[in-house]
Amino acid sequence: MRSVFRIACAMLAVVAVPAAAAEKLDSLTLLRPDAVFDGESAVLRKGWAVLVRGNRIEAVGPDLAVPAQASVIDLPGTTLMPGMIEGHSHLFLHPYNETPWDDQVLHESLALRTARATVHARVTLMAGFTTVRDLGTEGAGYADVGLKQAIEQGIVPGPRMLVATRAIVATGAYGPRGFEPGVAVPLGAEESGGPELVSTVRRQIGAGADLVKLYADYRWGPGEPSRPTFTEGELKAAVDAAHSAGRQVVAHASTVEGMRRAVAAGVDTIEHGDEGTPEVFAAMKAKGVGFCPTLAAGDAIARYRGWNGAAPMPRSVQEGYDALARARKAGVAICMGGDVGVFAHGENAREAELMVQGGMTPAEVATAVTSGNARMFGLGDRLGTVKAGMLADLVAVEGNPLADISAIRKVALVMKDGVLWKGPVGR
Ligand SMILES: [Zn+2]
Repeated sequence: MRSVFRIACAMLAVVAVPAAAAEKLDSLTLLRPDAVFDGESAVLRKGWAVLVRGNRIEAVGPDLAVPAQASVIDLPGTTLMPGMIEGHSHLFLHPYNETPWDDQVLHESLALRTARATVHARVTLMAGFTTVRDLGTEGAGYADVGLKQAIEQGIVPGPRMLVATRAIVATGAYGPRGFEPGVAVPLGAEESGGPELVSTVRRQIGAGADLVKLYADYRWGPGEPSRPTFTEGELKAAVDAAHSAGRQVVAHASTVEGMRRAVAAGVDTIEHGDEGTPEVFAAMKAKGVGFCPTLAAGDAIARYRGWNGAAPMPRSVQEGYDALARARKAGVAICMGGDVGVFAHGENAREAELMVQGGMTPAEVATAVTSGNARMFGLGDRLGTVKAGMLADLVAVEGNPLADISAIRKVALVMKDGVLWKGPVGR
């Protein structure tokens, strides 16, 4: 472990001591920021400190004594908060204005895509996102499972990963498109349907999927609007298979009918949701389904098409904000997840800023990106809050994120599982 972490450390060129932290499971570190945001209450705890033993938070509060042997890290001007959780990433994609999605899927080799993904994982961690829900490799097979293992084994730095592997689309419903039907071309996800769908779900879980992603609607042809793909019965069978294996189900859905079927089938979260009506959001609220509006992806794609950010915003962008407003009115839990990969990894904060632009308070967004996402993804018992007993995933940001969400861009310290990846050396 020692040499592995040394290599990772040298590669990052950060002033940190992960080797020591990884070796000494009972090592003590006292973090002294200006204030603590615990991930839950919208109150900044001024003068609080956090004591980390090994990979867990041991104590949080004011006037913590400095134990003998503790390494002390002073973080003046910062707020210490839970490591952030990205709700919707694609570590195997890079921005579409660099290379269009079709070309990434069709022309980039698995090795090239995986090499890129390791870099994406590192910048994500350094941006303060210590966990990601990665929602499909988009043609890169099961490489997310391998990347997750490489991170866990300390071979490359990166966030904790919840992976969807290939994701599942209805046969004939996904891209890249435009080829002679007799020619087999690489697809961005695994095709399935009918009775086979349950086997597809189980095969992906068996190969390492932490969650199952289903596309409940998509464009059936170029230039078409999205329309439902799987029937409600198919979705229900897939959800039952996933849930019985202890996996959550994520539905890509932007149409009313696609969302309605996904909610009726029992999915756990819905991604995009642009056309969601008050009735659909009310059903989501009633069944406890979370909503990930992915505003940043819509914003990025509109800019790639020439929008300069000035008013009036394109309809596609406005729809995202309108859906968020309807979901909030219905009381649906909002996930923070930007579909990052459409835009640059490490720029995860972009979604948080747009959520504030969409009417949420900075405190609501700061809560969503920490305890909210943790709870929604079934991680709330160990991540997302700064409390004694929780895993030591912590970030320090300059300023006060509860007053200005853009503070989460100024990351002064990153600790994951008690290992310091970025920040000043303790004394
Ligand atoms: Zn996505």
